[in-house]
Amino acid sequence: ASRRETGGDHPEKLLTPVLSAFWDQSASWTLETYRRHEGYEGLRKALAMPPDDVIAYIKDSGLRGRGGAGFPTGMKWQFIPQGDGKPHYLVVNADESEPGTCKDIPLLFANPHSLIEGIVIACHAIRSNHAFIYLRGEVVPVLRRLHEAVREAYAAGFLGKNILGSGLDLDVIVHAGAGAYICGEETALLDSLEGRRGQPRLRPPFPAVAGLYACPTVVNNVESIASVPAIMNRGKDWFRSMGSEKSPGFTLYSLSGHVANPGQYEAPLGITLRQLLDMSGGMRRGHRLKFWTPGGSSTPMFTDEHLDVPLDYEGVGAAGSMLGTKALQCFDETTCVVRAVTRWTEFYAHESCGKCTPCREGTYWLVQLLRDIEAGKGRPGDLDKIDDIADNINGKSFCALGDGAASPIFSSLKYFREEYEQHLNGRGCPFDPARSTLWA
Ligand code: NAD
Ligand code: SF4
Repeated sequence: ASRRETGGDHPEKLLTPVLSAFWDQSASWTLETYRRHEGYEGLRKALAMPPDDVIAYIKDSGLRGRGGAGFPTGMKWQFIPQGDGKPHYLVVNADESEPGTCKDIPLLFANPHSLIEGIVIACHAIRSNHAFIYLRGEVVPVLRRLHEAVREAYAAGFLGKNILGSGLDLDVIVHAGAGAYICGEETALLDSLEGRRGQPRLRPPFPAVAGLYACPTVVNNVESIASVPAIMNRGKDWFRSMGSEKSPGFTLYSLSGHVANPGQYEAPLGITLRQLLDMSGGMRRGHRLKFWTPGGSSTPMFTDEHLDVPLDYEGVGAAGSMLGTKALQCFDETTCVVRAVTRWTEFYAHESCGKCTPCREGTYWLVQLLRDIEAGKGRPGDLDKIDDIADNINGKSFCALGDGAASPIFSSLKYFREEYEQHLNGRGCPFDPARSTLWA
């Protein structure tokens, strides 16, 4: 659910609906609705500028990648070599799969034209004539809606030959993945798009140098590209007026778990979970926050002591975690942390692509130990063992999936070691699973 800015003293005044501004309108996904809300105006402005100026403009806006890593978008575009004689590609990473992350899929469902307009602007900037949208395959209704939006854009002259008389030719291809978490890793995604089994490639070379079909390729997240039209239309200073110095702008926060009102909340970077909970109705009635993730399960968890950490790259980083995808999963006191971590670790073991030993073997070993601990069959020394295994995965794996798998182990041991010990000493889980709505 998108929430509208209401002004006044109401906590909702913190909201800055841009991408979600008209999600509540009927047929919000159509070209007609989009054009009633400044749609394709940013493109007109961008096409009137030389490509390098568009890159410089996005660089100056301070937009950072919304897929999790926060890499500066303009800088990534600038890495594309010019005059190299090779085709350049834009690939939009819409393979959103991080546990708790659910912003790109609703954005595409409710407002697909913001992505298409952003794609045309980005392709003008990096001098590309081919863009691909790699969409998570399970979301068939979104796939259909995206296909329809692309058809509408072609028919209206926003895609195809000589777009708006600018001389830019651009084709957009929507590709549905087959449901592997690893294909969200940008180089595995490129392998998958080329028709191979999706497994990460060694970086460097980064895709900007050798990406799709070994040509210079920008891989950007859906929300990053969808944010570009508003920046071009309303200006970089407007964008910089939101958020913090190093993390400017608006963004989509996905609030989920034991909260009263889960959903997408669009607000500036740098607000806090306390503010988000205040404006959204808080935790479910009668319960209190126990632990939460700033950006899905791959980011180290926080506790109720971290409610006032600014949700930007610097603030979350300084507090010992990562902003990641801004997937704020909130768990109350009825949740067994060992159970939660076991479920996440099962996910990583299942999704491990098997290319490197620390992740392939380590995640399975972790699952066995965690299941034993959860079932009351843990042995003295198991906690040191899971810590040691996670340490041998973290930083020693081929891609970020391994680090992500290690992160809930480290952070849960840091904040809730006592709860693990209760499982060992009491020979089982001290929680009654039936009391938890999430893990029952
Ligand atoms: P990264 O920091 O290695 O790279 C980020 C981006 O910057 C990449 O596109 C990379 O190509 C580019 N880059 C970095 N250094 C570069 C250089 N020197 N030259 C050219 N380009 C360069 O991060 P990553 O491994 O791509 O992604 C990790 C992030 O993904 C995590 O923060 C996590 O939150 C996120 N993630 C998101 C999802 C999701 O569903 N959205 C799922 C899993 C993980
Ligand atoms: Fe594959 Fe895991 Fe190694 Fe990444 S860390 S390459 S997912 S086995």
